[in-house]
Amino acid sequence: MAKEKSRRTIDWLQALKPLFKKYSGRKHPLQHQNCYQLTVMVILSARDSDRNINALAPALFQKYPSIKALAAAKPEDLYPFIGKITNFVNKAAWLVTLAKTVKDDKSIPTTMERLIALPGIGRKSANVIISESGGEMEGVIVDLHVLRVVPRLGIAIGTTPEKIEKQLMETIPQKYWRELGMSLTFLGREICRPTNPHCPECPMNPVCEYYGKQK
Ligand code: SF4
Repeated sequence: MAKEKSRRTIDWLQALKPLFKKYSGRKHPLQHQNCYQLTVMVILSARDSDRNINALAPALFQKYPSIKALAAAKPEDLYPFIGKITNFVNKAAWLVTLAKTVKDDKSIPTTMERLIALPGIGRKSANVIISESGGEMEGVIVDLHVLRVVPRLGIAIGTTPEKIEKQLMETIPQKYWRELGMSLTFLGREICRPTNPHCPECPMNPVCEYYGKQK
């Protein structure tokens, strides 16, 4: 029987400090002006690219500048604005239902429990919204980038966001969860690419398990 891979014992908080420093203060790549726009864009970006959403969003927000305006729309009204986005029919329905539920920009929730109760929002999206709106983090952003980077580094093992997030939360104190998720996602977007990661220029290469095995 194959022996289960075990996590390495490293002072990960200390090891991550150069990464936190590199990406300190960076905003999420979804270009939003307020929590309403961020919430809509996070839902639209599922299984699509941030670049695509950034390009399409200004026209949508010109027509629907607030939750109140969106609540008055029918899902089909959104199709001309989001028709090029993956899964746009479901996303249009989720957005209108969410707007009718929340009713007002100021009532957009900032807690995990209330966010994931809304249509189209799972843990990852909720963590992004809480992170960018400055709320108290209740988890760590685990998107596709973080899901790839973390096992390479050796901080956590597993292939599901739930398993990876749980181990990150156990390993790093809560007060660092915001910068942890954001810096790991930027590392994956810019340096630790799916193929040909740029290891020699990576601030995590002194402790990275994947890099250690390549040398
Ligand atoms: S050293 Fe290489 S594999 Fe490891 S995190 Fe950095 S880019 Fe990714």
